[in-house]
Amino acid sequence: MGLATVTRFVRETIADARRSLLTNAELSAPTETEVAELVKARVAEMLAGRSRRVINATGVVVHTNLGRAPLSPRAAAAVMDTMTGYASLELDLTRGKRGRRGGFAEDALVSLSGGEAALVVNNCAAAVLLLLASVASGRAVLVSRGELIEIGGGFRVPEILERSGARLVEVGTTNKTRLADYEAALDSTPEVAAILRVHQGNFRMTGFVERPTLHELAVLSRKRGVRLLKDLGGGALIDLKTHGLDGEPTVAEVLAAGVDAVCFSTDKVLGGPQGGAIIGTREVVERARRDPFARAFRLGRLPLVALEATLEAYLSNASLEVPVLAAIARPLGEVEARARTWSDELAARGVDTAVRATRVEFGGGALADRTVPSFGIALHHERGPDALAAHLRTASPAVMGRIEDGALILDARTVLPGEDAALLAAVVSCLQTADA
Ligand SMILES: *Cc1c(COP(=O)(O)O)cnc(C)c1O
Repeated sequence: MGLATVTRFVRETIADARRSLLTNAELSAPTETEVAELVKARVAEMLAGRSRRVINATGVVVHTNLGRAPLSPRAAAAVMDTMTGYASLELDLTRGKRGRRGGFAEDALVSLSGGEAALVVNNCAAAVLLLLASVASGRAVLVSRGELIEIGGGFRVPEILERSGARLVEVGTTNKTRLADYEAALDSTPEVAAILRVHQGNFRMTGFVERPTLHELAVLSRKRGVRLLKDLGGGALIDLKTHGLDGEPTVAEVLAAGVDAVCFSTDKVLGGPQGGAIIGTREVVERARRDPFARAFRLGRLPLVALEATLEAYLSNASLEVPVLAAIARPLGEVEARARTWSDELAARGVDTAVRATRVEFGGGALADRTVPSFGIALHHERGPDALAAHLRTASPAVMGRIEDGALILDARTVLPGEDAALLAAVVSCLQTADA
C-alpha cells in the first residue's frame, strides 16, 4: 500500500479517535500500536472491496448483484486474446480501410433478429434514452399508465423520457389501456413522435387487465404516421420455450409485430457482456447513430469483443455455449444428480446436507415469476443460516447461497460447470470454522 493511502487512513483513524474522545470522556486515547492495527484493518477492508469471483449458488440466473450474465469460454477467450494488445476495432483488415466500430456485432444482430439495422451501445437504459432523444426530442411520446414503471437501479420510464427531451403523454389507466385510448390521445395531442411500449419484465399484472397487442399498436402507429418503439429489456435471440421458459418474447417476434425499433440488454437472457442494442428500421437506427448521445453511450472495447464472440456462438447454432442458456437448458435429472454428488461428497467429509427440490428464477428484470425446476443442497447449522452465509461469502472464490426455511440452500443449476470442487471446499472449510 502506497504512502498516500496509508497516510489517508492514519489521518482518518486519528480523527475518529479524537472524535470518540471528545464525546466520551471515559475513553482513553489509543496507543500507537492500536492505531497501527486500526489502520491495517482499514487497508484490508479497502482491498476486500474489489470485485472478486463469486460462485452463484443462489438459484437466480442473471443475478443483478453478481454482474448478471457470466461470459462463455469463447467470449472470455476473445477478450483475453485482444485486451493486452491492439485490436481491429475500427479497422477493416480485408480492405485495409477504416471500419465501423461494432460492425460485426450489428451485422450479427440483424441476421439473428430480422431487423434492417442495428446499433450497439453501453446498456439498454442508454439505448432507450438514445432512441427517444433521436426520434422524439421536443415532441410527444405516448405511454400507457401501466408501463410507467421502474426497472431498478434508477431506471424510471417517466424520468428517462423527460431526460430525452420528449414530452410524456400518459394513456389509459394502470390496469387497462385500450387501443381507443391511444387513438384518442393521438387525436388530442399535437406533435406526437412515437408510441413507446415498455416490457413488463420484472413484475406481472393479472386480473382485470387489458392492453392492445403489439401488432395492433403497430397498425395504429403506421396509420397515424407515428413510430412504435419497444423497450424490451431482455433480448432473447432464441425462443426460450425450447428450454421450458415461457413468456419472454424474442427480439425477432417483436420486430415481426411491426415495431420501428426495439431496445434490449445484451447481458440478460442474451447471456453476453453488459451492453444494449437498438434494432429496427434503417431510418430509425441511422437517426440514432447520428445523435451525439451515440458517441457518449458507445460500447467499450472489452464488452464489444465479448459481445461479438457471444453473437458468433448464436450465429453458429451454438447458443448452449452461453452459460445462462446452458444453465436453464440443463436437464433436471442432471441437476439432481449434481446435487446428490455434492451431498455424497460432503457426507464423505463429515458434512451433513439434504438434497432439496428448488426453483430457479431469472434476475435482471426479466421473466418475473417464471421459474425453472432445480435441485440444491440444504445446510443446517446451530449457528443459523446467516452465520453460514457470512462464512461462505468470505471464501475464495466467495460462495453465495440462498436462505430458505431456516436453511442455507446451494442451488445446483446456477453454479457453473467446473466450480464444484471450489464450492465443496468452501462449504467444508466454512463448517469447520463455524464449529470451531
Ligand atoms: C433491464 C431493463 C432495462 C435496463 O437495461 P440495462 O441494460 O440494465 O440498462 C430497461 N428496460 C427494461 C424493460 C428492462 O427490463
